[in-house]
Amino acid sequence: MAPTDVMDKLVSLAKRRGFVFQSSEIYGGLGSVWDYGPLGVELKRNIKDRWWRAMVQQRDDIEGLDAAILMHPKVWEASGHIAGFTDPLVDCKQCKNRFRADDERLKGPPGAPDTACPVCGNRGTLTAPRMFNLMFKTFMGPVEEAAAVVYLRPETAQGIYVNYLNVLQASRQKIPFGIAQIGKAFRNEITPGNFIFRTREFEQMEMQFFVKPGTEDEWFEFWRAARMQWHQDLGVRQEKLRFHAHTKDELAHYAKAAYDIEYEFPFGWHEFEGVHNRTDFDLSRHQQFSGKKLEYVETATNERFVPCVVETSVGADRTALAVLCDAYHEEEVAGEKRVVLRLHPSLAPVKAAVFPLVNKEGMPEFARRLYHDLRARFNAFYDDSGSIGRRYRRQDEAGTPFGVTVDGQTLQDGTVTVRDRDTLVQVRVAADQLGGHLSERLAA
Ligand code: ATP
Repeated sequence: MAPTDVMDKLVSLAKRRGFVFQSSEIYGGLGSVWDYGPLGVELKRNIKDRWWRAMVQQRDDIEGLDAAILMHPKVWEASGHIAGFTDPLVDCKQCKNRFRADDERLKGPPGAPDTACPVCGNRGTLTAPRMFNLMFKTFMGPVEEAAAVVYLRPETAQGIYVNYLNVLQASRQKIPFGIAQIGKAFRNEITPGNFIFRTREFEQMEMQFFVKPGTEDEWFEFWRAARMQWHQDLGVRQEKLRFHAHTKDELAHYAKAAYDIEYEFPFGWHEFEGVHNRTDFDLSRHQQFSGKKLEYVETATNERFVPCVVETSVGADRTALAVLCDAYHEEEVAGEKRVVLRLHPSLAPVKAAVFPLVNKEGMPEFARRLYHDLRARFNAFYDDSGSIGRRYRRQDEAGTPFGVTVDGQTLQDGTVTVRDRDTLVQVRVAADQLGGHLSERLAA
């Protein structure tokens, strides 16, 4: 399949089955903003839950945080976002379109009389590049004046830095330790696109690990490996994952080293997580701008230092896209085309669907009881409409690992069939042991 075909199919499946809708669609949509529907919200929640379990709950040395989106404007001066979070942009005076100055479609320097606009084709209509800040601005309080400007955060990390001392004192952690958070971030991206890959509102899952200067390289290697493993544990195919080491040109001026974790999307290899060795830049800057000491005092040695930071930063939406791309399969089963999402069971929005084979002879009542039992353990679904083949296919498209059918034999011997989404193998299981049976297979 051509890459664009795969994306078209995925976008259409996502809409049809309720994973992702365009924001404000009945008004024509809002550029590069997306809403998660009933299945999508479960998928994304499962991704975030797995991250939270691995990064916070299963570690003694990481604490959770949920900082507000709005922050003191000085935060963004200290972080460098007001001065540096900019892209050079070019406007076409004729058609009013706007491009990044490094847009590959521009043949020739923008601003030069011969350079043509890549959209309307007119020559000499492009302005010279101008810097454009990617942060969304708004006003706090009743008066729209310069003093009231606040920003929607373009990353969650700053909420962690400014709470570093609070968390350290409240949790009684010792260095090395980390703070993790999941939350929305906003960037007024100039060239958003590729569905939920690059959007203007998105969710990040970030962890800042505070370490003693001199130990940051070891921790950087540790987190780089741990984060790659996490993606593999989600079931993402290994051959679709790779590291990309930042070159000198790509590296932020304060960073010692950085790796992107890339996935081979249908539109090419792209970053969906960054692991960064950030030196003591962040806390030093906040110390300087706030005037508050952010040093750590090591009890054993009485040594004082500003900790270095190793950061892991991954997008929940980009992970959802990587997982969906990886799971999407088309195949032929008994001469018919089947679309199946081979999602890792822990990520699947619905874990098991229960079907009465026909809507008579007590099958629906039995199936409903079963469904209610299963629902107490995990997200289950009941469906009694359409042929059994169609019901299976609907669940295959939703990525549901198991289909449970109540049939004639159920009423005689109390067993049901369990169909495996991937192998299509069906086994009979006693209905009173079904919950345990499925829970075990889901955890395997
Ligand atoms: P890119 O170069 O793709 O814009 P970035 O290097 O600016 O990404 P970071 O600032 O390192 O990204 O953000 C960390 C993670 O946050 C990214 O790996 C990605 O998963 C997610 N992310 C960043 N920008 C967006 C966006 N506009 N839409 C969706 N996810 C995003």
